[in-house]
Amino acid sequence: MSMNSQGRPTGIGTLGTSATGSALLPEEPLLFEIGDTDHSGVDLPDVELGEDRLGDFARRSPLDLPGLTEPEAMRHYVRLSRLNHSIDSGMYPLGSCTMKHNPRLNEKIARLPGFADIHPLQPFSTVQGALAVMDQLSHWLMTLTNMAAVALSPKAGAHGELLGMMAIKAAQDARGEAGRRIVLVPESAHGTNPATAAFLGYTVKAVPARDDGTVDVEAVKAALSSEVAAIMLTNPNTCGLFEPQVIDIARAVHEAGAFFYCDGANFNAIMGVVRPGDLGIDAMHINLHKTFSTPHGGGGPGAGPVVLSEALAPFAPVPFLRKTSGGIELVEHVGEQALGRVTAFQGQMGMYVRALTYMLSHGGDGLAQAAQDAVLNANYIKARLEAVFSVPFPDYPTMHEALFDDSFLKGTGVSTLDFAKALIDEGFHPMTMYFPLVVHGAMLVEPTESESKQTLDRFCDVMLALAEAAKAGQSERFTGAPFKAPRRRLDETRAARQPVLKWERESEVPQAAE
Ligand SMILES: *Cc1c(COP(=O)(O)O)cnc(C)c1O
Repeated sequence: MSMNSQGRPTGIGTLGTSATGSALLPEEPLLFEIGDTDHSGVDLPDVELGEDRLGDFARRSPLDLPGLTEPEAMRHYVRLSRLNHSIDSGMYPLGSCTMKHNPRLNEKIARLPGFADIHPLQPFSTVQGALAVMDQLSHWLMTLTNMAAVALSPKAGAHGELLGMMAIKAAQDARGEAGRRIVLVPESAHGTNPATAAFLGYTVKAVPARDDGTVDVEAVKAALSSEVAAIMLTNPNTCGLFEPQVIDIARAVHEAGAFFYCDGANFNAIMGVVRPGDLGIDAMHINLHKTFSTPHGGGGPGAGPVVLSEALAPFAPVPFLRKTSGGIELVEHVGEQALGRVTAFQGQMGMYVRALTYMLSHGGDGLAQAAQDAVLNANYIKARLEAVFSVPFPDYPTMHEALFDDSFLKGTGVSTLDFAKALIDEGFHPMTMYFPLVVHGAMLVEPTESESKQTLDRFCDVMLALAEAAKAGQSERFTGAPFKAPRRRLDETRAARQPVLKWERESEVPQAAE
């Protein structure tokens, strides 16, 4: 088999040439390998250049872009898209990621010219509709959470977390309590929580999980002191459980003069049912790209608005909305306390439109039903699998995701990784693996509310059949999997540490991870 300069097999359009011999999975060359730099995909007349006004900025070497026709370029990207698994092609039960269906209505509304064709530097008077979308979205987020303020602009959950913790830090500095240098993070927290605290220079102190997977208020109390700035609690936590003592935890944290940051990325499990403000939370990010169905992963940018309590609201970043007699405007400059700006312009406008469309098309009762259906679906999977798969925390019903550990695979020679890879051959995206860290060989399955019972049953049937095959000693079906994917097992560590990001003409380049 011939290889290209990146060490991948070549053979455009030839069927059955992938490593697995699967039909209709052609290897896809790079655009540079399809087109060449001597030709152009379009006929452009020669241009008479006038006076050169670029001086030293004028390009001296050729651009070296491949010339492709529109169908060649189109086919390249369509073929690439078919090599990938997406929520539009099948179930994607990746725990903690809420890979739910992205309703096409959201897309239709986001493409209206009044939203899609405007520019952030237009005068406010010409974009009142877009500003009204931001205002209504803010209203819904504050109502659903019962919180006093919201900062829309962070561009991801982790970014929102950072902003929320920066607001807490600023509030404590303003109170003359800059000496609070510790942030408590329960073991069942999402990995971004300790990362955020550490990034801001805090010392992270872990709070151990109880045997039942929840956080013990007594352990929190024991860890609290006048040096603690905040606790960062994920609720529902990464074991898929709602923290039963969350109100007591909030009270203890406040009594110690600290703030309660809640990681609300898993809001999909409780929206319309529980208002985080009622639990005593001071700041919480919400992932529009999870709970409110805007495309994410390979499909689009995130948006991680942060809701804030009254005490933290003065520390929110700019810009924020203000209603005047002339309409709505974005305020760019406020008092000394505000954090300044955390994004360019106003954040991810297209995601705001999609999220608000989702909210309005569901209504308050529809959002609550979506959360309840997400929880029902996860419990259905747990109930169908628990006789065969090992459930580490059986005491509570699960919330929006079902957690299993790898003890059911003991003695089979099959690991969690092998099992997940075998799922690919069955047409499903793997579940989240080895996370949360509190259980051994974790498998975290989040079906979301948008899967039908038929799909859930097919998934459960496949999971049970795979478990049976593993127990029957068919380990080669797992350790070599996936057999039917266009790529088999990648050296992900090498790909992350030595990424090949640049195409070079001659093969003097390190090989891509394979
Ligand atoms: C997804 C997730 C995050 C991070 O959100 P990003 O948008 O990926 O930055 C944080 N916490 C939890 C619990 C999550 O599920």
